[in-house]
Amino acid sequence: MSRVLVVEDDVQLVRALRINLQARAYEVEEALDGDAALRLTASLMPDAVLMDLGLPDMDGVEVIKAIRVWSQVPILVLSARHLSEDKVRALDAGADDYVTKPFSMDELLARLRAATRRRRTGTGTETPPVVTTDGFTIDLVAKKVYRDGVNVRLTPTEWHILEMLVVSPGRLVSQRALLREVWGPAHVENTNYLRVYMAQLRRKLEADPAHPRYLKFPLSAGQLDTGTDGPGGSSHR
Ligand code: CA
Repeated sequence: MSRVLVVEDDVQLVRALRINLQARAYEVEEALDGDAALRLTASLMPDAVLMDLGLPDMDGVEVIKAIRVWSQVPILVLSARHLSEDKVRALDAGADDYVTKPFSMDELLARLRAATRRRRTGTGTETPPVVTTDGFTIDLVAKKVYRDGVNVRLTPTEWHILEMLVVSPGRLVSQRALLREVWGPAHVENTNYLRVYMAQLRRKLEADPAHPRYLKFPLSAGQLDTGTDGPGGSSHR
């Protein structure tokens, strides 16, 4: 049985979706806002997510981006927004498909089947939402790092770098890719930025910053034990 997480604040639509999905043997879970969507995606590991863009607490596009940091779960957008700009933003953020409200239930179900079929034929292993090492723990959903159980405060830039290292298949990231992602394409040569920030990250997270075990400059986040089978995965379209 497939489990579908419905992220939608319109309770009548949630109800209609629940009835139709359950009639086709889907297990249905509900999230009424973005915060619940992130928590439930991590804890329930659904087979697909139906995502409204207009949520009470945050833009659905931001929720999609946050899920895509660590998960390739199929995401189907349900939106009343007709502008192609909104579709482009959602698809660029990592949504798999898009239906405009009001939609026919048959079309939605067909698109849902297609999205989950593509997923099953993929090779992906998910990066779990929590990555643990002997020295520190990274919670990708809460965007927090703990060292000996204590929350370590990172700047947004430090977090962005750490996140890139953790979610990259094989944990190897080139300096140029990191610089492009974090500072933008104009800064791919500024390796001194990375040197500074990696030193800060090591001071905050490594037991012996001079001899880093995990955050090895310039290339990798080392042997993070994520409980997965290592590289593979990330079949980007
Ligand atoms: Ca809404």
